[in-house]
Amino acid sequence: MRLLEVENLTACHGLLTAVRHLSLSVGHGEALAVIGANGAGKTTLFRSIAGVHPLASGQVRLSGRDVSALKASQRVAAGIAMVPEGRRLFGDMSVRENLLIAGENGRPGKWTMDSVLDALPALKPLLGVPADGLSGGQRQAVAIGRALMSNPEILLLDEVSLGLSPVAVDGLYASLDLLRASGTTMVLVEQDLDRALGFADRVICMLEGKIMLEGAPHALARSDITDAYFGFTEVEQETL
Ligand code: ATP
Repeated sequence: MRLLEVENLTACHGLLTAVRHLSLSVGHGEALAVIGANGAGKTTLFRSIAGVHPLASGQVRLSGRDVSALKASQRVAAGIAMVPEGRRLFGDMSVRENLLIAGENGRPGKWTMDSVLDALPALKPLLGVPADGLSGGQRQAVAIGRALMSNPEILLLDEVSLGLSPVAVDGLYASLDLLRASGTTMVLVEQDLDRALGFADRVICMLEGKIMLEGAPHALARSDITDAYFGFTEVEQETL
């Protein structure tokens, strides 16, 4: 059985269908990258899996259990944690407080303050600093630490490197490497194709709410990825 199974998921914003009959699955310990142009439906897909956005139809299963009817907080308790785009930390609270609060609402497990700080060592000197005083990369690290404190089965990371400096992105991916080595299952939205292909075990490319291309990075031709990304068809390419 796969850890996460999304079956025939459709999600809408009013009359606009943002995700269309989409199915995917993620295995234990796998790192899946979701790529696609702006508006492809990546964030809506993540929010639907996390229970923050309602499903119009379809099903989300975690370890075979249908969690589709659960509220977001109940899905956290079931083991789905999302690091949202924009991070949403409690700005006037310290890094330590941000992490502890997440731990209080999560499940028991291997992730504690100590193990999170081992996986994200850059946070150690920042524990007493209010979140509002952090750089973008530091905020992202806190957001990931906060998600880990809930002891998730699966971590959903939206726009993981958006707005970060190249140095901060390097630091972030070093942390993600450590998490992966510890067996953490991850699904991440990454705008930077090279980063996505370099990190993930498998990549999904979305366009207009559907999966256009899927495979292991080494098995996908760069031209097929860019075609799927921008939605070029063979007919359109012949006329270019
Ligand atoms: P981006 O990289 O720009 O965040 P995305 O792939 O994450 O894009 P979504 O944000 O899921 O895509 O958007 C999918 C579609 O839903 C787009 O057409 C977008 O305009 C629309 N959409 C997203 N959020 C809303 C909203 N709150 N209200 C109305 N339409 C929305």
